[in-house]
Formats: sequence, structure tokens, C-alpha cells
Amino acid sequence: MALPTTPTRYGLTRDELGEHLAGEPRYRLDQLWDGLYGQLADPADITNLPKALRTRLEDDLPPALTPVAESVDETGDTVKFLWELDGGSRVETVLMLYKERATVCVSSQAGCAMACGFCATGQAGFTRHLTVGEIVEQVVRAAQRAKQAGRRVSNIVFMGMGEPMANLGPVWASVERIHGDVGLSARHITISTVGLIPGIRSLADLPLPVNLAVSLHAANDALRNELVPINKRYPLGDLVDACADYLRVKNRRVSFEWAMIDGVNDRTSDARELAALCRRLQPHAHVNLIPLNPTPGYPTKGTPLRRVHEFRDELDSFGANATVRQNRGTDIDAACGQLAAGQAVTIGRTSTATPTT
Ligand code: SAH
Repeated sequence: MALPTTPTRYGLTRDELGEHLAGEPRYRLDQLWDGLYGQLADPADITNLPKALRTRLEDDLPPALTPVAESVDETGDTVKFLWELDGGSRVETVLMLYKERATVCVSSQAGCAMACGFCATGQAGFTRHLTVGEIVEQVVRAAQRAKQAGRRVSNIVFMGMGEPMANLGPVWASVERIHGDVGLSARHITISTVGLIPGIRSLADLPLPVNLAVSLHAANDALRNELVPINKRYPLGDLVDACADYLRVKNRRVSFEWAMIDGVNDRTSDARELAALCRRLQPHAHVNLIPLNPTPGYPTKGTPLRRVHEFRDELDSFGANATVRQNRGTDIDAACGQLAAGQAVTIGRTSTATPTT
């Protein structure tokens, strides 16, 4: 599907925004910039701009995301946004408010072409890449929502819909924008990949120190070929080499994601193989264990929590560090692997909840 070409408010660089202010005094650009990025305001609400200019900018620089629904989980601490994009595709963004941090999980594509069978986005297939404006605006909208709750966004994870490394140009441009303009340090930004080695290598050459997460899920090629089909093109040995190089060049954290699937990748032998891979990275990769979340297209269950904790202890005894990831938003289909805008989730089922602050 063709990408939209109309300018949007968070899709333009500062210079490009300036072109929309031709004939205005120079300080107007500072005001617009501060309004969009400092105050997270819509052009219509940037009150130090003259009314007529605000109205014109509101029309000239439309938003990239049209809200369809907002769901809040039962704790009130996880909010899922469903957006419609230009062209009609839908994507989701998740805001997670923890005690110590507030994390936004952003989508990089509508759908995904990687076809991991256990992931709802993979089950739905690929629709299109997201633009810079569509990615940055997800962060801004979530930050606006956090602000209503008296919170500031502290972390960004590219762990929503899509494969960020398959759309690296816009993803990287949005990282630069989030780092430089929204003001969130690259050290608090994590890009998660299914394991596209050329993307990992390109990322290693880019300057900002972002964290890398790799969705591993299996520590031998036979099993990984089944669970993560792209492994046939980028097998584990090469993938772990690329991670080791990333770590060396960037000196940033590399973590492995492991969705625990009952009887499939949660045996002691899996822990032993995984620990051996972790030990190949110096300092070791950190493992995030996530019990598999249910999705419509994959019948196998997640590993029971008791076994997840045992598996963590086994990894520990084999010399690898692992954390059991808190599962957020399962009741609103906002958890890992459950994002499938317009498929499993429809506006009829998703309540447009009121903010609980
Ligand atoms: N395509 C990228 C970004 C998506 S991140 C990647 O694969 O890394 C989403 C994370 O959730 C990935 O680690 C993915 O493997 C994991 N995941 C997918 N389906 C899941 C499910 N049903 N339960 C738990 N985790 C899942």
C-alpha cells in the first residue's frame, strides 16, 4: 500500500516546519516548535501564536493518527490506543505506567510480514510501513495521555506492531526525533527485532546509543525455523554474532525476548541451550521471559507461571541472567503479541474508556 505523502505535524523536521511559516517573524518557529514538542500541544492550542495562524496550521499540518478507541486495563495502568492511518489501516500503541517509569510501546508497521505463528500481528500479515510522522505522533499522543495522569514518559520500546528493522529508515528518523526533539534519551529507547541481521548491522553503525532486543524464542535452528520463519534466512549462529558485534560497538544492553510456550521451548534442555547462547555475548545478554499470551490463531498455551520461574532459576544455574516480564494488558489484548488492530480487536469490543488518574 502506498505511503501517505501529505505533511503531518510530527512528520516534519524543524526546517520543514519553518517552510509553513513563510512571511512570519522568525520567533514563530520557536513558538510552534515549543508548542508541538515542549507542550505536546495541537497547533490550535498553541496560544502564543495568533489565532488565524493557529487555525491555518491546524489545517496545513493535520495529525497522522485518527483515534478510534482507547482501552484501559483493569488496573488503570495500561492504556491501549487504536489509531486509524491515512489509507484506512489501523495500528495500536500501548502506554504502560509503572511506579518507576512510564513506557510507550510503539508500532513501526501496520501488520507484519515476518509471519511468526504465535503472534497476532504476524497472523494478520503485512499492510504497510509507518512514516516518521506516524511513529513520532504515537509517542506524543501517549505522552499527552501520561501527562493527564501527572506522569512523564521515560522509555520507548519498538515492540508494537511490525518489524522495526524492516522499516529502519523511518524508525531511525523517529528515534532521532524522539531523542532530539521529544527529549527522551536514546539510552531509554529499545528497538526490538525478530533478528534481521542487516538491520542489526546498520543499527550498529548509527550514532545514537539505543538498546537492542532480539526476539529469540528458540536456541536451536530446528525449533527457531518453526517458531520464527525468518530464521531460515538469518540462522542463529550468525544472529548471535551480529548481537555480539552490536554489543562491542555500542556498549549498550542486548536482551533476548523469550515467549514461553508450554512444552515447546520451556524444557530444561532449552534453558541449557539458551544459556550457552547468552554466554557467547560479553557481557552476557539479558533474557526477558514472557509467558506466551493467547492469540486467536495459535492453540498452544503459555507456560504456567510456576514453570516460568523455575526456567528462570535454571537459566541462572547455567550462568545466564533472566527476568520474568510483568504481563501487562492481557485483558485488553494489549500484551506482547496480541496487537492486531481491527482483527481481534474491534471498536465494538473495545470500550472508549475514561482516563483513570
Ligand atoms: N517484530 C519485532 C517487534 C515486535 S516486539 C520483534 O519480533 O521483536 C513484540 C514481542 O512480543 C516480540 O518479542 C514477539 O516475539 C513477542 N510476542 C509475539 N507474540 C507473542 C505472544 N503471543 N505472547 C508473548 N509474546 C509474544
